[in-house]
Amino acid sequence: MKKQLTQWIEKDKQFCWHPFTRQGEWTAEEHEPLMLVRGEGVWLEDGEGNSYIDGNASIWTNIHGHAHPVLNAVLEEQLDRVAHTSFLGYGHPLAGELAEKLASFFPGTSLQRTFFSDNGSTAIECALKMAIQYRLQSGEPERTEFVAFVDCYHGDTMGAASLGGVDAFFSRFRKFGFPVRFVSSVDELRKLDRLDRVAGVVIEPLVQGVNQVHLWPQGMLAELREFTEAQGIHLILDEVMTGFGRTGSMFACQQEEVVPDFLCLAKGLTGGYLPLAATLTREEIYEAFLGGAENAFYYGHSYTANPLGCAAALASFQIFEDESTLERVAELIPHLSEGLEKLAGGHVHVWQVRQCGMVVGIELRGASGERFERSERIGEKVCLAARKWGLLTRPVLDTIVLLPPLSISFEEIDQCLDAIAQAITEVL
Ligand code: PLP
Repeated sequence: MKKQLTQWIEKDKQFCWHPFTRQGEWTAEEHEPLMLVRGEGVWLEDGEGNSYIDGNASIWTNIHGHAHPVLNAVLEEQLDRVAHTSFLGYGHPLAGELAEKLASFFPGTSLQRTFFSDNGSTAIECALKMAIQYRLQSGEPERTEFVAFVDCYHGDTMGAASLGGVDAFFSRFRKFGFPVRFVSSVDELRKLDRLDRVAGVVIEPLVQGVNQVHLWPQGMLAELREFTEAQGIHLILDEVMTGFGRTGSMFACQQEEVVPDFLCLAKGLTGGYLPLAATLTREEIYEAFLGGAENAFYYGHSYTANPLGCAAALASFQIFEDESTLERVAELIPHLSEGLEKLAGGHVHVWQVRQCGMVVGIELRGASGERFERSERIGEKVCLAARKWGLLTRPVLDTIVLLPPLSISFEEIDQCLDAIAQAITEVL
């Protein structure tokens, strides 16, 4: 096994390029990357047979755990039927069923039309292009700008990247994308000039994940909806991270009874099994694309509405019902809060704990509340130390992000928090 593991690592270092990674450090001789080979429930196993809780749900995608028997069986059945067919010029039975299911969460509203793509970035990219083209086709060609929120993250394709508020990631590329202005509150939005040029406002509802788990004030989303509606500005909700039970309801926007003009979904759509994304929009927006060739939406990807992905997404919704996932989550959330309170009380370096449902950020600071030097990379060190205690997770700067599969048990939540506590003690 050791020899095989060494070979895997060598090939990876020689031929692969990892996302958001300092490749120089990754490929350094002394660095032994973790090779993950198997998963079951919330557990992942590495190439040496060690097990870890998947504390960030495989980058915020996994909902019902790994190797879920229902998802596995449904995918095997679909594989025997067909793995992929083109959605360009053809349909398949699962896409309509899934689109109907998505629309069913917004009954009595016009948010009933789904455009499929592959990932969170393309779900956003698609909404941006639809929003612009809609304005061109409905007599408002001057509305070409977007407004996003400071330090936001909406993906890496060029349009999505132009919305990106994290300078370290996006400052090089922003100017090549859409014109975007950034605000930090609804009040700041109200004060912007030339709102008549704005096509849409983009926001992650309730909580910004990549922004160190930044929580929006209660009621802010409803306020934003009211203001954008009054101004004729489209509200584009990015529920790529918050969707699928993560914040306690199927979609975060339901908590403030907000219906957006565009709803972008990905990550957990397939339960974290396959890359599939959905951009939902309103019928009246869709109708502007019904004319001839000049009104068609020329956008799409080879794997759009991939049947395996659709099968996984439908199975995931079925599991939500069969396993009463949302009811379980309602019990997990207070248990997690209690554990977090204890963690914060026991460690002077836990400066703040931010929780929105099953999204947690534990911000670490010096004993007097001072930020650590970036170069100290405290968050990374703590996450690395937590591995020894059986937890895999990633920080954003010095905020430890915990976002486990929703199938996690009370005991496994306790194990995650113990691992973080041990790791903090070891590093600080
Ligand atoms: N939007 C949000 C809120 C995200 O957190 C992410 C990814 O982390 C994206 C969009 C981009 O999704 P993807 O990585 O699937 O392109």
